[in-house]
Amino acid sequence: MNLLEREQKEFRELTSSEEARRIIKNIKVEPKIETLLLEHINGCILAEDVLSFIDVPAFDRSVKDGFAVRAQDTYNATEIEPVALMKIGSIAAGYVPDLSLGPGEAIEIATGAPIPEGADAVVMVEHTSAEADNILVRRAVYTNENIMRTGADIMKGERVLRRNVRIGPREIGVLASTGISKVAVKQLKVGIISTGDELVQPGSQLYAGKIYDANSYAIAASVEECGAKPIIYGIVKDDERAMSDVIDRALQECSMVLTSGSTSAGVGDVMYKIIDEKGKTLLHGISIKPGKPVVIGVVENIPLIGLPGNPTSALSIFNEFVAPLIYDSLETDPPFKTKVRAILGTGIRSEGRKELFPVGLIRGRVYPADKTSGAITTLAEADGIIEISEETEYLEPGKPVDVTLFGNIAPVDIMVVGGQCPGIDLLEDLSGMNFRIISMGSSRGLSAMAGSIADVAGINLAGMGEYNLEAIRNMSIRNAFLVKGYRREQGLIVHQESSIKNLEDLVGKKLVNRNRGSGTRALLDKLLEELAVKKGTTRAELVQMIPGYSSGSRTHRSVCEAVNSGKAEVGFGIRPFAETMGLKFIPITVEDFDFLINKEIMDIPQIRKLLATLRSHDFATRLPSGIFTYERTGEIIENI
Ligand code: AMP
Ligand code: MG
Repeated sequence: MNLLEREQKEFRELTSSEEARRIIKNIKVEPKIETLLLEHINGCILAEDVLSFIDVPAFDRSVKDGFAVRAQDTYNATEIEPVALMKIGSIAAGYVPDLSLGPGEAIEIATGAPIPEGADAVVMVEHTSAEADNILVRRAVYTNENIMRTGADIMKGERVLRRNVRIGPREIGVLASTGISKVAVKQLKVGIISTGDELVQPGSQLYAGKIYDANSYAIAASVEECGAKPIIYGIVKDDERAMSDVIDRALQECSMVLTSGSTSAGVGDVMYKIIDEKGKTLLHGISIKPGKPVVIGVVENIPLIGLPGNPTSALSIFNEFVAPLIYDSLETDPPFKTKVRAILGTGIRSEGRKELFPVGLIRGRVYPADKTSGAITTLAEADGIIEISEETEYLEPGKPVDVTLFGNIAPVDIMVVGGQCPGIDLLEDLSGMNFRIISMGSSRGLSAMAGSIADVAGINLAGMGEYNLEAIRNMSIRNAFLVKGYRREQGLIVHQESSIKNLEDLVGKKLVNRNRGSGTRALLDKLLEELAVKKGTTRAELVQMIPGYSSGSRTHRSVCEAVNSGKAEVGFGIRPFAETMGLKFIPITVEDFDFLINKEIMDIPQIRKLLATLRSHDFATRLPSGIFTYERTGEIIENI
């Protein structure tokens, strides 16, 4: 049986997402009840009603610094004709008064101190002045003024917290103020296991061919947000015995077990088999994109769920199908608004299968965030998902959609797409705004702008004509203004002792080039073109003689890292990272790094702030070496 046949066999009967929801609704998980100290219950779900066994406050207390008095003694007091009362003592917070108040008397009292017998009001100290043994009261107070009566906050026997509430800082404060030091909470232990020979733990060395385990941590955090208790079992190799053993251990210790990876029908993907052998498989494969490969089973009443390996898919499936199961089991509601209504910023095409489509949310508008399924960058750029039904082939821009958020996300102010530059990070830091920066190269920045996806595109595109302007005109971009940014030195990056001095020396040297679509790569191409002409050859022939020319590092930093580690002899790029890594920077040329800004949003506060930051003195002085502002910085060109 070849792979394709196997795949067709295994996924012949996908379960619809409605059916999957129904199946999950029927799973019952009983959380355990555990009594925990206040310091350990944040985020937990309360297992029982909590009644107060005291009055809060437990005595009548003053809410102001001032003087305890009989209200009737002050009725005639005015600013012009104050009333004199005899001060007979004072009471501090925390002490029981041993004196009582008679007519015509006052007792100095601190905020929080018990009201002495005989007093029925407190005059604020601001409305009094001292005169020998007397005080002068300049304002009348009414009965009970500035007094908090016993039980005013919470009455003895009152229910202060309800069963099934999610415990947060406020709830903890309430419990503490009623004198309670521990409460019964629902404990739902969820075991988390990542599978794959390719996985290594974050923090350890990344050997060739390996990737870091993202799922253990992302899923654990999601579990915690649901109010359950994640238990990370770590990474298991693609080995049936090893997986089975760890799963057994988790089944012993937890009320629910989540694995990720190994759920497709590929070579070595055995999760469906393991689940089938241990218990009852309820479904294998949901007709939803992404994340078709998911296995849900039950082993002796404990749900054992195999999530997809791809981190975005794993989180989407978790949010759609596992989180509801946890909330149901804990009998509680989601902790924060998980759905927001927003407007589609661009059209989205779908392929007739139900889709959980990852999207970014920028100022209430929704943008696709699915580059290629499998890229963790999607996860980094996605704020949530929208659900697209089977029948939908195209969602029009402007259509309202419901976004299911991945968590409690910070709102994004500006989406910046295009060339990668530390100057953009500095703009973000100094403006105090939250950018979503997608560095895909200048060309992709231009297309994102043409497609109205980006708010701002950072570009450095050398052409035969004026910098950047020519490229923009070639793309006939009409929906944007060009804002002149800053200038950047571009040059060769080599080891200190390298013999390379100029572009001509590139021949025969191993180059680390930038990715296609990057302005820096385009600039090098232009320079090589000029060099070829000078040498009476063509660029095509010239680059044949430069090993590594076809490589494609995505960032300036990674170029420097390749040179630093000796993977390459020379790179081409901007100065800052070369210098910080102690490499030699040979300046070749200076370029313009500019910004295209969507016309329609030129006047919104976020863009104004961006422009003000770009033009600021602070920005100019804090740019790293090799990047500098000049007289055109911040100039707006409207007719591009
Ligand atoms: P699998 O279903 O095991 O074939 O995994 C699908 C994809 O997700 C593969 O590219 C895996 O490398 C990746 N993947 C699996 N588990 C993880 C994980 N814990 N963290 C990050 N990526 C993962
Ligand atoms: Mg795997």
